[in-house]
Amino acid sequence: MKLVAATGNPHKLREIREILTGFEIVSAREAGFCGEVEETGETFLENALLKARSIANATGMSAIADDSGLCVDALGGAPGVFSARYSGGGDAENRALLLKNLEGVESRRAYFCCAVALVRSDGTTYSAEGRAYGTILHAERGKHGFGYDALFYSDDLGKTFAEADEEEKNSVSHRGRALRALLEKL
Ligand code: IMP
Repeated sequence: MKLVAATGNPHKLREIREILTGFEIVSAREAGFCGEVEETGETFLENALLKARSIANATGMSAIADDSGLCVDALGGAPGVFSARYSGGGDAENRALLLKNLEGVESRRAYFCCAVALVRSDGTTYSAEGRAYGTILHAERGKHGFGYDALFYSDDLGKTFAEADEEEKNSVSHRGRALRALLEKL
């Protein structure tokens, strides 16, 4: 079965291809979809569904989309669905703002959350969610990954996601867990 993935992010595409073996995964761009889908949902799942539905409608093919972010307990779940847009800048600025907002905060529990949605060309919809728990460090550690990886000390790995290689991270990551849960439902 051919699936259009609603992402151009090479990290995400690799992870989707690794887990959903048996599916031919093409990027939205390869399927001729060049538009942007606005993430107007209030939850990760709403955003994943929005993206998968738009791309399935536009291409006439089955589509898979994910939406993810970091939820910090002491910040009432922020940055949450606004993780990518937290500071208005890039990844480094987002990490700097997170550290600033957690200055003097002792309790630094957090989790990454990912929702994935698959919409078939006939409209049938499947979805799943995955989480990865950990704590936010006081300074960055590690050089791999992207986003908040260097600040997220994983309970599962005993190091930050940025200190882990891709295979290690995928084995415990929110996205890996969501994709494996989706695969079970298919
Ligand atoms: P989106 O799912 O592409 O909308 O990404 C949401 C944002 O959440 C990203 O830009 C990152 O800031 C953050 N994020 C999501 N997953 C990860 C991850 O695995 N590591 C680090 N940051 C992540």
